[in-house]
Amino acid sequence: MNKKTIRDVDVQGKRVLVRVDFNVPLKEGEVSDDTRIEAALPTIRHLLDDGAAVVLMSHLGRPKGQVVEDLRLDPVAERLSTLLGQPVRKLDDCVGASVEEAVQAMESGDVVLLENTRFHAGEKANDPDFAAQLATLAQVYVNDAFGAAHRAHASTEGVAQAIRKKGGPAVAGLLVEKELQLLAKAVENPEHPFMAILGGAKVSGKISVIESLLERCDRVLIGGGMANTFFKAMGFEVGDSLVEDDVIDTAKSLLDRSAGKLVLPVDVVIADAFDNDAQAKVVAPNEVPSGWRILDIGPKTISTFESALRGAKTVTWNGPLGVFEMPTFAVGTFDVARLLAELEATTIIGGGESAAAVQQVGLADQMTHVSTGGGASLQFLEGKTLPGVAALDER
Ligand code: ADP
Ligand code: MG
Repeated sequence: MNKKTIRDVDVQGKRVLVRVDFNVPLKEGEVSDDTRIEAALPTIRHLLDDGAAVVLMSHLGRPKGQVVEDLRLDPVAERLSTLLGQPVRKLDDCVGASVEEAVQAMESGDVVLLENTRFHAGEKANDPDFAAQLATLAQVYVNDAFGAAHRAHASTEGVAQAIRKKGGPAVAGLLVEKELQLLAKAVENPEHPFMAILGGAKVSGKISVIESLLERCDRVLIGGGMANTFFKAMGFEVGDSLVEDDVIDTAKSLLDRSAGKLVLPVDVVIADAFDNDAQAKVVAPNEVPSGWRILDIGPKTISTFESALRGAKTVTWNGPLGVFEMPTFAVGTFDVARLLAELEATTIIGGGESAAAVQQVGLADQMTHVSTGGGASLQFLEGKTLPGVAALDER
């Protein structure tokens, strides 16, 4: 990696402002999944061990530039404190006089968590004044929020520039470093056969990823809701299945250009309602009766995918192959997860729901890497730069 990391800077006795991705799910006012908090611990511990005072910041949800009580970071501070085994002081804003006063009083080894950065409209607007206010809080900036690195926001991009302007370093945290190194394996010099599996709800958000992967992979296996639009492009009627009419033509041209490389399901599980207990059956994709919808890939498709993946040396997977949230339609997703776990290959899982599915079957440890950033990992796989990373100091 050509960016500096926290290993390259001296933080002893300094205040270090760290952008983390604490955009975690909350249930009844408590953190219901702390994977992202866990993922930030190595960086926080490293900085504390090196004698820094650590000022953390993150966004949470979509408060749209104003204070939303339910999106305060207090439950996050509480969970972080438990995981770190030390107090974490939570402030009620992320900029302003009282925040500056509180951070100036910090000592080496202290941890402070600022309030949700998206309570300020300047965050998403990447407002230079807001970024400069954040930059006054510390001497060093660290970006460890891989999940937000594809956004040019004040806490990811603007603040890096602002810290540099006042002579301080802006460097990557250990999570960002690890994500970039592992994803680069799949992008820069993948060992072949290189297979991509793409699923999820929609094609539209992933068209440029499909195009880019088609150029670099030996096969691109398509499942999930996104396959339906391809079926429609092939002239099949797919009943009440999720279809994006406005990208049918794009799907058609992808099929024309890449015949042989794109592998589509040969059978699908359909249901007469969007319900775990609906009537379900397996049919060919051109045999979906009206009133029915495709909710999973079928057993023949799982075998086809299995043969394609046997012997693969690199596999990237983004997007579940069915509505895995309902057990009846989780078979395709979970079987493919088990298959990947057995392969002697570099396996990289990106995408919020895909990562959740792999975790749900307890196979996250069996994969080479499960990315914490859905959008960011996709953007990286497309070969695009991540603004939050681009803004950091070069080595
Ligand atoms: P990721 O977060 O892994 O990138 P997406 O956000 O693109 O994945 O899509 C995930 C969603 O796709 C899941 O919630 C799943 O229920 C849905 N999905 C998968 N297959 C289908 C299908 N056949 N019909 C409707 N939704 C589907
Ligand atoms: Mg998603």
